[in-house]
Amino acid sequence: MAVIITDLCINCEACIDECPATAIVGVDFSPNGEYTYVKPEKCIECVDCSVPKCFDACPTEGAIAWDLAYTLENEPHFLAGNDTGRYKIREHKVKGLMLPSVKEQPFRESIAKDLRKSNQPLEF
Ligand code: SF4
Ligand code: SF4
Repeated sequence: MAVIITDLCINCEACIDECPATAIVGVDFSPNGEYTYVKPEKCIECVDCSVPKCFDACPTEGAIAWDLAYTLENEPHFLAGNDTGRYKIREHKVKGLMLPSVKEQPFRESIAKDLRKSNQPLEF
């Protein structure tokens, strides 16, 4: 990942069309079934922008939080989350689950790992 949407989300869907990576889906496609979801295998953390677009569009404080970077080192986290239904990693017909070992994603190196581990809300 990435960023993750928390249960503070009010499902306004303002973030969905702003995402340059088409990584965000509404509640109907969300594995949690309750609020909007970011696909970690697609999120690029808007590394080329000053502020992540989803955060910029979101009216709800605390609805968007940091998650671990979508890198090989963190593959066990995403695999375990996929098993518990926290994530729903895309399954490619040929490549299988699109885990970091298949494709890593860019991430903001300036964000400390402990902020990511504890899912701290984004602040800019
Ligand atoms: S950080 Fe950027 S790429 Fe990731 S979900 Fe938000 S808008 Fe999309
Ligand atoms: S903009 Fe914020 S509150 Fe609205 S759907 Fe996205 S994360 Fe949820």
